[in-house]
Amino acid sequence: MRYEHIIWDWNGTLFDDIELVVDVANLMLERRSLPTIDHERYREIFGFPVRGYYERIGFDLEREPFEVLAVEFIAEYQARWRDHELRADARPVADALHARGATQSVLSASEQELLNAMTSHFAIDERMTALVGIDDHHAASKLDHGLAHIEALPTSKDRVLLVGDTEHDFEVATAMGVACALIEDGHAPRERLEATGAATYGSLTALLADLG
Ligand SMILES: [Mg+2]
Repeated sequence: MRYEHIIWDWNGTLFDDIELVVDVANLMLERRSLPTIDHERYREIFGFPVRGYYERIGFDLEREPFEVLAVEFIAEYQARWRDHELRADARPVADALHARGATQSVLSASEQELLNAMTSHFAIDERMTALVGIDDHHAASKLDHGLAHIEALPTSKDRVLLVGDTEHDFEVATAMGVACALIEDGHAPRERLEATGAATYGSLTALLADLG
């Protein structure tokens, strides 16, 4: 294989949480009598840092600080994530990569303890040599942790592929000096993924087929 190590994004890439985040966003919007969103609108406005997304979705950050909204979001997310699943092909693809001798890790903007709990619940942690989350629930950027992760990896950068579902994953991969592949049906529309110039796939299975 061209790549010896795969770095996975978590939300929207391995974990199919689109319905979950849209449901939680709508719950919070309804509580404030604000217009709700659908999946398409969510993909249009979501982005990192998520503070900007909170503004675009319609919350008044002058009245309610982002940090307060973020606490409410994560409480609702924590209460519901077990009702959702990995992408159907996440486990088979992780197993296939393992069988081909590749090592794998997760680099996520999720808070570390939550990331540990989710990957353990879905028993995909056993395929990972590292689980790299961040220190709070504000999902600012995973870049700093990504840079530390790539320095610690025993694999040379040109043999590492980062797989994500947003243009932010492409920016992070570029800053880390590694290749990037993007998967659609996650947290961003396909047009924005393709606009990065990164190889874009309809599924993890399609990506696997292309890895050789
Ligand atoms: Mg993601």
